[in-house]
Amino acid sequence: MEISEKFNEVFGYSPELISAAPGRVNLIGEHVDYNGGDVLPFAISQNSLAAFGARSDSKIRIASQQKPGEIIQGDIHILTPLYGQLWSRYVLGVFWALGDSRVTNGFDIYIDSQVPIGAGLSSSAALESSIAYALNHFFHWNLSLPELARFCQKAENDFVGVPCGIMDQAVSLMAEEGAALLLDTRTLASTHIPFDLSKDGLELLVIDTQVHHDLIDGGYAERRNSCEKAAEILGVKTLREISAEDFERRKSELDKTTYLRAHHAITEIVRTELAVQALGNKDYVALGNLLTQTHISLRDEFTVSCPELNCAVDVAIAHGALGARMIGGGYGGSAIALIQAGERVSIEGEISTAFRDQGFIEPRFFAALPSAGARIIEQR
Ligand code: ADP
Ligand code: MG
Repeated sequence: MEISEKFNEVFGYSPELISAAPGRVNLIGEHVDYNGGDVLPFAISQNSLAAFGARSDSKIRIASQQKPGEIIQGDIHILTPLYGQLWSRYVLGVFWALGDSRVTNGFDIYIDSQVPIGAGLSSSAALESSIAYALNHFFHWNLSLPELARFCQKAENDFVGVPCGIMDQAVSLMAEEGAALLLDTRTLASTHIPFDLSKDGLELLVIDTQVHHDLIDGGYAERRNSCEKAAEILGVKTLREISAEDFERRKSELDKTTYLRAHHAITEIVRTELAVQALGNKDYVALGNLLTQTHISLRDEFTVSCPELNCAVDVAIAHGALGARMIGGGYGGSAIALIQAGERVSIEGEISTAFRDQGFIEPRFFAALPSAGARIIEQR
């Protein structure tokens, strides 16, 4: 059933606006967005959809295909952080961040995510972006995409209570088809880097381990604090501002864990630069090696991997992938593997077999194609 029919079923009339915003895969630059580094994500073809009906009063009603039977109610004038069910805060938080001086009437909203939820593909930012993009369009604010991304991040940080960086929202809003987005996380300056794998006979396989991760628990905050602590001790605003050489020279000033966390971030910032060069040269062997180095760094220094992710990466590489790594916050979610298009079926089979042998739950697979960012897909 189309989202407009589902909207109609719940609210009893047809929506006037439908927006879409994609999930993302971060090719490289993992856990550097809060360290001031560049990241290189791209949008995937799966979107979070949102259908809107404007109301003449100030009420907000939200229903989700993924939360059957629940309708969350709010009011644009009386939103406070942590209001409502967790899932609805990703929507209400965007209203709150934009504020009732901008959002001047209520809405009925139906959401439906094609982005797997909690799989490290950022269904949360896709959802926020679909709301912010649609409201900007509806009210003709002409806010820029980076400005919208900042409002979405504020929603997730302060209203939902998840201390995420800016990358996911930025790429969901700013991505272009056939390109990765080189994004300076300090300024949100960006460049579209052509990344058209299929032309070169390659695919990026996403392996969803189906192991749930939850950024609200302490792991992410602990890593982030370690990086901030290292920057403070080293006297820089973010780890971006210290060279790899200076960092090594001052190693003795940091305790072992803080050193390892910061070492990941600093080397990852360098790997991201090298990945942009590799893409420019279409040197996919070099790109693959960088992905694998990132995995090793996340596994051994940042320690955010888990047995399922390590298994997916190791098996992919053992069976011909040019490189592979875990993506996202960690402790589950998805891994990516850069593979020859013809090898997809065999690599998926090997990973499934290995998961079964280890007693892990069945992984899911799909190919990620660099796709377009947020847009309006229907308007009446
Ligand atoms: P990820 O962003 O990697 O998918 P998160 O834990 O950051 O994982 O965000 C997932 C959360 O976003 C879900 O637990 C839910 O609260 C919310 N969410 C995203 N899309 C939807 C949707 N369509 N319906 C309901 N909740 C959603
Ligand atoms: Mg998320």
